[in-house]
Amino acid sequence: MFPRFIGLLFWLMVMGVMGFWYARTLGALAAALAFALFTIFKDLWRGQKISNWLRHNTVQEPPVLGGLWGDLIDRLRRILNDQKKQTESHQKRLQDFLSAIQASPNGVVLLDPEGRIEWCNQTAAHHLGFDTKRDVMQHVVHLVRDPVFKKYYLQETHDGEVIIEGRSSSLSYSVKLSVQLHAYGENRQLLLSRDVTALAQAEAMRRDFVANVSHEIRTPLTVLSGFIETLQTLDLKPEDRVKFLDLMSTQASRMQGLVNDLLTLSQLEGSPLPLMTEQFMLSELMGAAEAEAKGLSVANSVEGRLTQTLRFEMSQEWRLIGSRHEIYSAVTNLINNAVRYTPQDGTVTCIWAQLPDQRLQFSVQDTGPGIAPEHLPRLTERFYRVDRSRSRESGGTGLGLAITKHVMQRHGGELRIESELGKGSKFSLIFPESRTLEVLQNSSDIHLEVTHSSS
Ligand code: ADP
Repeated sequence: MFPRFIGLLFWLMVMGVMGFWYARTLGALAAALAFALFTIFKDLWRGQKISNWLRHNTVQEPPVLGGLWGDLIDRLRRILNDQKKQTESHQKRLQDFLSAIQASPNGVVLLDPEGRIEWCNQTAAHHLGFDTKRDVMQHVVHLVRDPVFKKYYLQETHDGEVIIEGRSSSLSYSVKLSVQLHAYGENRQLLLSRDVTALAQAEAMRRDFVANVSHEIRTPLTVLSGFIETLQTLDLKPEDRVKFLDLMSTQASRMQGLVNDLLTLSQLEGSPLPLMTEQFMLSELMGAAEAEAKGLSVANSVEGRLTQTLRFEMSQEWRLIGSRHEIYSAVTNLINNAVRYTPQDGTVTCIWAQLPDQRLQFSVQDTGPGIAPEHLPRLTERFYRVDRSRSRESGGTGLGLAITKHVMQRHGGELRIESELGKGSKFSLIFPESRTLEVLQNSSDIHLEVTHSSS
């Protein structure tokens, strides 16, 4: 500032001296006055340019000016640039923040002090049926019409959450949402929504499961305690006592079967996946399964001998990689079901064969009653039975196919069910190629290729 002032004085003096040289004192005063007026007008002109620039459009390049005004402009430009950078950085942070909220699996809605929607992410829009643009500044209670939510919204404090029906619910599929309000800022509220359908389903399944198990255990227990009371109070003939004890033994075995199946299920759910190092020969597994099936068939027959035709075919020896214990239970569940549901003169055919895509299939085909198509998708649900009394009579627990499906999932395979009412059923276990090893046979193993057939 000071050098400029000196410069100005210097030029004033130069002009004064030149005026004095030209017309003495009057000339000096006129020249100094002219210089001063010129300087003032120049400054006014520059000031006006800056004022125009500031007033109209600071985004455009500022006017190029010299002197003090030029300095001022530079400084202003630097301040404006800094502010622009700061605004850009704040905007970027805001965008990042909004993108993060958009990416959230939970719904987020910002409400103003009147309860109007200021902003919401896509998840909230999907959960609650909002339109992210059209519904801005709409009152949330006008859009979320569930009475449970309305009551919750009108409460003074919102400590807990409420469960309401989601907008995408339909008659066949109910979506459950957990909704919670949190106060923030100056009387503003944050509404968070979370899809809890899976949790609600799991909870419903747990409740059903406990109810089913209790029911399944209570029935044989009631029968058993009835018999015990009879035996305690009545003086029965020896043959009646034997009959009663036989019936009690049947009920006790039923409970035992149920408890065993429940333990198997919980072990399957709780244990790590079967290792790729455990292997076993299929012929050995099938030998044991065949013996068990024959025993069951004889036990079920009225004549006390094998009347069903049981066929076991395995054209070639295989090694399976996985848990022998689990696969044995899957295989015998299918064979035993076929034996149990097929009439005395029926046929059960069990075949191991390789599919064209190299997977290995074990199929059990029977000539039993078959299953109506509407039951097929539900057969692997726990305790689902087509014919409840028939399943119970033949010692079923309703858990066999659930266990089988689980075992197959744990081995990367699948359970396939085909059936035609009145004609019979075919249950197949399909193992991935990675779990099968072909065993090349020499002449001493030839007996493995023989088709086992017994009737
Ligand atoms: P269960 O112990 O009752 O047999 P499962 O889970 O093994 O239970 O089978 C579920 C239901 O599927 C059975 O109750 C039965 O109604 C039906 N089912 C299973 N296998 C056969 C079959 N081979 N033929 C006809 N129905 C079958």
